[in-house]
Amino acid sequence: MATKNNTLKLKFDSARNLAPAPESKNAATIASRYDLFVNGKFEKPLSRKYFGSINPATEEKLSEIADANAADVDKAVKAARVAYDRTWKKMPAKERGKYIFRIARMIQEKARELSVIETLDGGKPIRESRDFDVPTAANHFFYYAGWADKLPFAFPGKDPEPLGVAGQIIPWNFPLMMAAWKIAPSLATGNTVVLKPAENTSLTALKLAEIIQEADLPPGVVNIITGTGATGAALVNHADINKIAFTGSTDVGKIIQRAIAGTNKKATLELGGKAANIIFDDAPLDQAVEGVINGIFFNQGHVCCAGSRLYVQESVYKQVLRKLKDRLETLIVGDPMDKNTDIGAINSKEQLNTINKYLKIGQQEGAEMYQSSVDIPGKGFFCRPTIFTNVAQSSRISQEEIFGPVLTIQTFRTDDEVIEKANNTPYGLSAGVWTDKGSKIFNLTTKLRAGVVWANTYNQFDPTSPFGGYKESGYGREGGLHGLAPYLNLDKDCSFNRW
Ligand code: NAP
Ligand code: MG
Repeated sequence: MATKNNTLKLKFDSARNLAPAPESKNAATIASRYDLFVNGKFEKPLSRKYFGSINPATEEKLSEIADANAADVDKAVKAARVAYDRTWKKMPAKERGKYIFRIARMIQEKARELSVIETLDGGKPIRESRDFDVPTAANHFFYYAGWADKLPFAFPGKDPEPLGVAGQIIPWNFPLMMAAWKIAPSLATGNTVVLKPAENTSLTALKLAEIIQEADLPPGVVNIITGTGATGAALVNHADINKIAFTGSTDVGKIIQRAIAGTNKKATLELGGKAANIIFDDAPLDQAVEGVINGIFFNQGHVCCAGSRLYVQESVYKQVLRKLKDRLETLIVGDPMDKNTDIGAINSKEQLNTINKYLKIGQQEGAEMYQSSVDIPGKGFFCRPTIFTNVAQSSRISQEEIFGPVLTIQTFRTDDEVIEKANNTPYGLSAGVWTDKGSKIFNLTTKLRAGVVWANTYNQFDPTSPFGGYKESGYGREGGLHGLAPYLNLDKDCSFNRW
């Protein structure tokens, strides 16, 4: 036993003591102040107010960002309306497609700078920004560029028409990628856009505004206005918005739903999650454990579809728990700019406080907490990867979204039992199933009330694949063919002489 412990310690130490491999900050240019991107130009806010954006790994201020008020929102919506009426809806679809392709290629050309800014501003490991966020953002523009002139083929028998001006509000966990998920399908369908990024992570959206300007997109087609929740509310409540696309918390989603009730505004709401990751006893366990680690600790658990609840079949529980604990010890937590880092900084002090609050709640509820013994930096916002065992199904840590690197673990005996437990939350965004049997996968995927179910993998994204929730995880789909429909009026049937 002593020898085994020594071997493990050596393994952990060697993983943690890798020589630093930092990405260079010099790969990015961040201005000391950013204005609002309205009508193709960067303009000072009418509010005359700015607020700081910090690096959550160091607590240093990176830049100052304009705080748009209702008058700024109005100006941006007017610019989007004029661009819609005079330019964008009249432009031949294949020309629209060319602009979207151009934006996609420019994101690729500036991928390194965008990754560095994403990591500095939001705290996620550079490996993730570089290998996931930025390429996925570019892929969304490429994918939807292809659809721009093929909309009638996407909806046979229909004559698809754009809706008009889309107001789009996004969260801080995938800032550039969320902007791409919102902007690319709007442009492909002929709508114009006013987008508000999250106040903690506006910098890559502003860099995207620079790209859009450089791509010569007609002024007003995309407007990017920064600000707080009040800015988002002003956008939602603006009378000349035709569609709201919101990604964020279920609480704000409910406020938006109330605000637009009784109006003609269409909406898609992509909200919170509390996904179940399910390991059956016939699963390849090492692969499953790696998938679970990726599912919850990836991006510090700041993932709406994070596999935050693990269900393990009783007969392999001990084995899986041992493997998980061992793997937890090898995860590297720290400088997000270091290419070795697995878990970067928590996005904000408020979010770290929320996570810590749940760690206390979990213990008060009687669950057993296990944290990795890894050292975390003294400055910045960091959290050790944490697992809870002895968790009750009704406990708050297994029902509420924590949005941090915290995993609850429960056991099950039968398929029916785990289906019932997995479905027993207010959310329904995603789930994961690990088993050797195709029949089990099909049985579960049809019964799990979740928009996405991954089998023997986790957190796989592709622009061709729709994404969205059941229940309190929201409604509407983004991505794929399904992601076009919420931006179109499909009431009119196709007049055949057109073809
Ligand atoms: P949030 O607090 O709901 O904020 C989301 C966005 O809404 C931010 O831009 C925010 O501005 C803005 N906002 C705040 N109050 C508003 C209001 N009254 N009216 C209009 N806009 C308002 O969510 P978050 O904390 O940034 O993000 C985390 C949440 O997003 C989690 O629940 C996560 O599950 C969810 N999420 C879901 C998906 C999905 O696809 N389903 C994807 C990613 C994240 P400020 O930044 O200024 O507050
Ligand atoms: Mg920041």
